[in-house]
Amino acid sequence: MRHAIHSDDPRLPAWFVERVIPEPNSGCWLWLGSINGDGYATYGRPRGEPKTVHRLVLGILEPLIPGLTVDHLCVTQICVNPGHLEQVTAAVNTHRRQLRNNVCHLGHPLTDDNVMRKVRTTRSGGSRIERACLACHAERNRAYRAMKAVVS
Ligand SMILES: [Zn+2]
Ligand SMILES: [Zn+2]
Repeated sequence: MRHAIHSDDPRLPAWFVERVIPEPNSGCWLWLGSINGDGYATYGRPRGEPKTVHRLVLGILEPLIPGLTVDHLCVTQICVNPGHLEQVTAAVNTHRRQLRNNVCHLGHPLTDDNVMRKVRTTRSGGSRIERACLACHAERNRAYRAMKAVVS
């Protein structure tokens, strides 16, 4: 189920709203609290197990179905906007991940002429190739220049 929800919705608890900053471009609600080792927003009650916030908040709005995973439609792990979350089966989640590997987070196709490859060294000493979207890169440059033009 997709939720269209505003951050001042009365169903959202104060502990949640206080730690969220809406990102105007993507509509993501970025989590300002703790992040776990997997890069997801966590919220721990005293003596309680820390829980991932995207599951907690979706659980407030709809029953969580055992066995399903909560997928980030926006592919932003620290986003906790319920409108960007959806319960899906593991198979659907994996399938979406594969599709997403061929587009950037804004949906630009990561074809050879739209991709910048960078070799990164991993902590274990190996290397991996990272792909960056050229369309996004150009967009960021444009936004930066526009901002500078206003300031100067
Ligand atoms: Zn999001
Ligand atoms: Zn892009």
